[in-house]
Amino acid sequence: MQPYTVRVRECEYCKAPIKQTLIYGDDGNLYNLNCWTDGKTEIRSTIMFEFQSETFSKYQPRIVLCRTCESAVWLEDLKTIDEIEDWHGRSIRPNDPLPYLIPPFERYMAFLNNAQLPEDRMLHIRLFAWWGGNDYRRIRKVDAPLCDLERSNLNFLVNEFDDAVVEDRVLKAEAYRELGQFDKCIALVKDFPASRAMHHAKTIYEHALVKCAYVRQWNP
Ligand SMILES: [Zn+2]
Repeated sequence: MQPYTVRVRECEYCKAPIKQTLIYGDDGNLYNLNCWTDGKTEIRSTIMFEFQSETFSKYQPRIVLCRTCESAVWLEDLKTIDEIEDWHGRSIRPNDPLPYLIPPFERYMAFLNNAQLPEDRMLHIRLFAWWGGNDYRRIRKVDAPLCDLERSNLNFLVNEFDDAVVEDRVLKAEAYRELGQFDKCIALVKDFPASRAMHHAKTIYEHALVKCAYVRQWNP
């Protein structure tokens, strides 16, 4: 594991420090990854890392919960009060800042009630709401049908992905697959162009062929 940086933010509500753990560098090739068909990528680690790279930046959490007061905060809006490089190897001390919490699905969906939300933030919330809903299936290892709220979120998202961008195209195919629209899914991932999303597309294609509509892991 390479050294990582800890950035300490300040909660705008309760002023408690909030810890972000950042790894700089390209992709996740160096790490042991769990990749999921809905695009969620987890590092097998007890620490919640954020990749600081072009590939991963849009899949990092931006709206999170302060662990102290449980308020929702946009990380990028918070003041940085400290940044510690090369944290690796340092033991944890009693007063170290606590990492944030990832909101559960229902909380993400509630964030959408804010009418002032800029489009990029709205899309970020919808993507993470999708993953949050699927976390239930991931953690419990169950194939549970989508609830109405998940379904309406996916119906919205499916129109936002850009077919011309390979990473978007696989997620659009996956959204169709989870909605049970297998023909639309297959049309997007069949004969997929050689790219870094190719294996991801192939996994989605194979599950769509057998009419499986649930989130699955894939091997990068
Ligand atoms: Zn707080």
